[in-house]
Amino acid sequence: MMDPFLDTGALARLLAAGEATSRDLTRAALHRAEALSHLAAFLHLDPEGAMDSAAESDRRRSRGEARGPLDGVPVALKDNLVTRGLPTTCASRILAGWIPPYDGTAVSRLKAAGAVVLGKTNLDEFAMGSSTENSAFGPTRNPWDTGRVPGGSSGGSVAAVAAGIVPLALGSETGGSVRQPAALCGVLGLKPTYGRISRSGLVAFASSLDQIGPISRDVEGMAWVLGAIAGPDPLDSTSAPAAVPDYAAGLDAGVAGLRVGLPREYFAEGLDPATRARVETVAEALRDAGATLVDVSLPSSPLGIAAYYVIAPAEASSNLARFDGVRYGPRARDPVDLEDLYVRTRSEGFGDEVKRRIVLGTFVLSAGYQEAYYLKAMAVRRAISADFEAAFSRVDVLLTPTTPGPAFPIGERAGDPLAMYLSDVYTVSVNLAGLPGISVPAGLVDGLPVGAQLIGRAFEEATLLRVAAALERAMPWRDLRPDVAGGGGAA
Ligand code: GLN
Repeated sequence: MMDPFLDTGALARLLAAGEATSRDLTRAALHRAEALSHLAAFLHLDPEGAMDSAAESDRRRSRGEARGPLDGVPVALKDNLVTRGLPTTCASRILAGWIPPYDGTAVSRLKAAGAVVLGKTNLDEFAMGSSTENSAFGPTRNPWDTGRVPGGSSGGSVAAVAAGIVPLALGSETGGSVRQPAALCGVLGLKPTYGRISRSGLVAFASSLDQIGPISRDVEGMAWVLGAIAGPDPLDSTSAPAAVPDYAAGLDAGVAGLRVGLPREYFAEGLDPATRARVETVAEALRDAGATLVDVSLPSSPLGIAAYYVIAPAEASSNLARFDGVRYGPRARDPVDLEDLYVRTRSEGFGDEVKRRIVLGTFVLSAGYQEAYYLKAMAVRRAISADFEAAFSRVDVLLTPTTPGPAFPIGERAGDPLAMYLSDVYTVSVNLAGLPGISVPAGLVDGLPVGAQLIGRAFEEATLLRVAAALERAMPWRDLRPDVAGGGGAA
């Protein structure tokens, strides 16, 4: 039986050495996904499609035409990434039965690199949430403790990686949805610079914030997947023209001489002391590896949540207008007129949190309130960016906790939106400023993982990955394996 926790680098080497086929890996991943179905990480598995792609990959490799290290590696995709021929629900009833006719850009690039798509993963409806409890199809469970949330909104993708079903997955971020669950499940999660990866084929939540992000158990795998999917795309006018470096090339360069800023606002009230202690061990590991720790301040960051919950709902209220019962998904029966069709389709199709966001967003954009709320939030957004700019004139990267504490019990915050929103207190400012951020494992608190976040200058993902690689060598990440019952994963 193959070790289900082998990471992308290890699997790529097995494939290259001819010690495993993609069909072996894909079959094992499908078995494990079935055996761990109680985690509800997947909304849809595609056994036939996956086995077909695996067989194609094996044929390419036997002809000496393997496309690179990801060729033949099984991956999972968050179900707000549009996939040709596979359901794409955004975990919403309003998209039930929708089978997209095309692949999003990141998806088609990942397939072109040879990756095998195992299926689509669970999320908070339309990526609105921090726990994956807002899914219309039920919550995903944290592989470390099935009574707890995996975080969200990319909870399904992260749980699939953390439980050893797949070594890699794609999620999406608007305010922390890759980094926060990655922290709570003990894996790596990257939110690239806004514009680094095309958003074409990522169902829009808040277009000025949304970004696809990779999830992985190893830094090398993350570097490969980022390299495969990043870069300009004529289908997304906000994709950046910047050239895509070889992200795997500099991973061994170390951190000697690197200046690491610790923003004091991120180590203040509200941070669980045990989580803080774990993040401090990460800072010490960086110092021991030759980095210099610097005290810095990001004074506007505490306003991030307030600004985010004006800007993100404002954009969502506009983006979600397209779900009207005419173009996608189910439609209310026997409408008496057009308004009745819209009202009933949307009332029946959207869940409570999505409705809350639409109402909030419509309110903050309405005549008379736009200046009081939306324009003020935009001013805060600029102040947050200016803070980061000032900090990055003194340091190369910033180190913070990813979340205020470990995973919370399912149900604990479901009735308290504000408590839920505060799970993203350390991640949203990075989205508002459009910067890259990565969450790396920081160890366990009472048997549950917590994460440390590294934030970089725009388009300096390579620096974040280099720092993460130094930490991967210095810290015992490989021992971070949840004890998931029933996950045989026979190869
Ligand atoms: N938890 C935040 C929200 O609910 C962020 C979600 C996300 O990044 N997609 O909006």
